[in-house]
Amino acid sequence: MRFTALTAAFLFISVSILISEIVLELINNRTIKQSIGTPNLELMQSGVMINTLQSMLYHLALSHYSIVHKIVSTSFTWFMILYGFDRMDFLARAFRLPSIGTGLLFIGFWAVTAYGVDLPFNLYYDFVLEARFGFNKKTIAVFLSDTMKAFGIGVLLAGAFLTVTLYIMQELVSVKWLVMGFILILVFLCVQWIFPVMILPLFHRVIPLDERLKSRINQLLVEAGVTTREVLAIDGSHRSEHANAFFTGFGKAKRIVIFDTLLSRIDEEETLAVIAHEAGHYRLRHFHQRSVIVFFGLFVTLVLLAYLERMPDFHVSFGFVHPSDYASLTIFAMLLTEAIRFFQWYLNTLSRKQEYAADAFAVNLIGNPLPLIHALEKLHECNLTVPVTHPAYASRFESHPNLNDRIAAIRRIP
Ligand SMILES: [Zn+2]
Repeated sequence: MRFTALTAAFLFISVSILISEIVLELINNRTIKQSIGTPNLELMQSGVMINTLQSMLYHLALSHYSIVHKIVSTSFTWFMILYGFDRMDFLARAFRLPSIGTGLLFIGFWAVTAYGVDLPFNLYYDFVLEARFGFNKKTIAVFLSDTMKAFGIGVLLAGAFLTVTLYIMQELVSVKWLVMGFILILVFLCVQWIFPVMILPLFHRVIPLDERLKSRINQLLVEAGVTTREVLAIDGSHRSEHANAFFTGFGKAKRIVIFDTLLSRIDEEETLAVIAHEAGHYRLRHFHQRSVIVFFGLFVTLVLLAYLERMPDFHVSFGFVHPSDYASLTIFAMLLTEAIRFFQWYLNTLSRKQEYAADAFAVNLIGNPLPLIHALEKLHECNLTVPVTHPAYASRFESHPNLNDRIAAIRRIP
């Protein structure tokens, strides 16, 4: 490891991002604490009785957890750059495998170490934090079986992807980053495509919908102009009391997914409003808009990497004494992680706009704003979401507008 100008630049970027995120967390926590004592006119108008004290305590606990997690993750990255990568590379090379095999072994070591660093956080999150607020329903057995399944899927998918990528890097040296960009897009689309049909059923049991509700949903989807007839109700209650609904997949595999934890809390009209909102995401092509930005961000990172890789100190600046394709790939993963954090504010801004648009779509389709408002209130109530957030925090971290802004926007829909 040699501390170069490139190392200094990366250190500056990663520490700046870390500090800015912690500052935003603290500013937002102050806003939330202040909002506790002041009456919330928007919510009082609609008669919402959210347990604000409990949601504040939950948010603060999450925020403190996330601050510690971020500090540990960034420290781990720097520990690996300063000491870890070189030693791990030495160990992987000691097996004297062909270069692709050494690469797979090295990345495997790295992934397992990173998982080990994250494990106490995952356990704390489920069995302490979420349990304290009554959300966690996972047993250690479910946690272990989820971990094993995720590990199996990870080894299969990542193994295939890395083998192909390392092969391309070795054979198509001059255009490798371009080809890799296309492979990553392909992987992204494949995962989106197989997620609702292959991955989701591995973790959740599908619950049959009530026949009457099902036919009303189908009628609504026809009116909305949505071609998918698949609305999946899944058993979220097996793992967590959190409630949710989302739109996933594309092409023939697209699905609207709704958790039993939400279904059990909202009535039929409210369920239809939630489905109409998800249909709005589909009709307004929100997935496509999001994907274009993700691909753009990916290509910016790849161009940057292709440029940096030509620098003589490139590998050594990130802790690799011996240059290799898998070292480049590791550095790419680190740069991409920071780039995603940077692009996130834009993705979230777009996502919040999409939420408002899907709400408007749903209200226009149903012809009445109340079922959606009531469904959102119940959703926020059972998830203990804070109804007010600081705008700077929201623009960086929140993919959905806060309840206050959202209800105000729905009321303004003509
Ligand atoms: Zn939405």
